[in-house]
Amino acid sequence: MNHDSENLRRAIALGEEAGRRGNRPFGAVLVAADGTVVAEGRNEVATSGVVTAHAELTALGAAGPAAAGATVYASGEPCPMCSAALVWAGVARIVFAAAEADFSAIIGGHPRFALGCAAVVAASDAEIAVSGPHLGDEALVPFRRYVETVEETA
Ligand SMILES: [Zn+2]
Repeated sequence: MNHDSENLRRAIALGEEAGRRGNRPFGAVLVAADGTVVAEGRNEVATSGVVTAHAELTALGAAGPAAAGATVYASGEPCPMCSAALVWAGVARIVFAAAEADFSAIIGGHPRFALGCAAVVAASDAEIAVSGPHLGDEALVPFRRYVETVEETA
């Protein structure tokens, strides 16, 4: 769990960066089996105008075929779109920090899905381990900060 925590903290830091740029505060890191960082991604929906520019998809786009067999670390539980994309990419593991129910309680927003990451993966024939939530309150800090920033500038 040591490397997992380290990589999750990097994903959370990328989420903070996304939030400072005016995007919802999600980050993701793809790490190869040997520990090499393959790609990083930040949520870019607001700044790019591309509704599918979630952190996980941004990272997958940067990784290309190198995503296969990697572990994805996400600051927040991947949505059904990203979870399915991670299955398509052939990642080996999905590790996330904040649970969807917990970050949605802070930042709100629509739509929401009653389908978690583990359920999407379980509905596929892929063998992918899903692990989360992790890091407890630490994982929620970027979401609280994001809401404060939005309220200050409103
Ligand atoms: Zn997503």
